[in-house]
Amino acid sequence: MKTNTKDRVTGILTSMGLDKISRLYYGGRGSILSFHRIVEDSSKRQRLNNDALEVSPAYLRDILQYIMRDYTIASLDEIPQYLRNKQNKRFVCLTFDDGYRDVYTSAYPILKEMNAPFTVYVATCFPNQNAVLWNYALEDLLLARQHIEVIIDGQRKSWCLQSVDNKFNAFEDLANLFFGADPERRNELCHSIFGAYDMDVGKYVKQLAISWDELATMAQDPLVTLGAHATNHVPLAALSEVDLAREMVDSKRSIEQNTRQSVHHFSYPFGSPGAAGAREFAQAQKAGYLTATTTRRGNIFPEHLEHLHALPRIDSGRNRNNLSFIKSQLSGLRMLLTGHLKRKVLD
Ligand SMILES: [Zn+2]
Repeated sequence: MKTNTKDRVTGILTSMGLDKISRLYYGGRGSILSFHRIVEDSSKRQRLNNDALEVSPAYLRDILQYIMRDYTIASLDEIPQYLRNKQNKRFVCLTFDDGYRDVYTSAYPILKEMNAPFTVYVATCFPNQNAVLWNYALEDLLLARQHIEVIIDGQRKSWCLQSVDNKFNAFEDLANLFFGADPERRNELCHSIFGAYDMDVGKYVKQLAISWDELATMAQDPLVTLGAHATNHVPLAALSEVDLAREMVDSKRSIEQNTRQSVHHFSYPFGSPGAAGAREFAQAQKAGYLTATTTRRGNIFPEHLEHLHALPRIDSGRNRNNLSFIKSQLSGLRMLLTGHLKRKVLD
């Protein structure tokens, strides 16, 4: 089945209430939902994949209202106790990756009003304003032009950008170069691609990132937990052992110094199998984190008590504004239909 067909089938089965049955077997003890940004619906404007990082305030409210009926919203600190002792209700943890300002301006007021605990995983390059948000620069570049030509590693490459499909394909081609890049390589790519068009990549983090003051203010609220999301926001698997350790230790220390809150939780940038694996899971434990989360899709089962540094999550941004999609994942119905029933991801 194609993804769209699977989505439709999942939606129909969920609307028939099958998620409630699936939840008994595949819902685990709970789930960790991941978000990035909360932004008013931007569908009126053409986008190239970056909108997958966004959900609307109205959709966040819908998700919270649904969860509050059937689940307990828990903090990440509570996961071990939920796994040790079965509770009447399953738990859901809410996590926001990276450190976008709209988490403070748009998500926090809603979460506060609904008394919902949540975690912000901060990549310290966001509040330090040196994150390289190449994805936004790339989107703007490709949307503005009908053609681009750049020199990468001494080779001239060009993309025709006359149709929307062309633009999506070019975005994917170029994004793939960035996904596996360490900071040095990433800067080279920015120079080759954006330098050729006189674009200032640094302007995006200034527009979009949360400040240390905003983080420190928010973190005084008992509802808020701060976690770390590394310092440079690159795939950790691309780094040497020394740089990997530094990313985990320095981000923790920096958040603690800047906000005066202790940090016990980590999320792996990108979090996919190519970006974080057994070496990174072991290092997160060694760096003193209580839990660490990936972007592998799944619910949390009692056996995760032995694997608290490889916890799967559910991405709320994918297929956004479709509550049945969230329901189908929290219940495990979606995983059942797609064959993603492996509970632990240890490699
Ligand atoms: Zn991230």
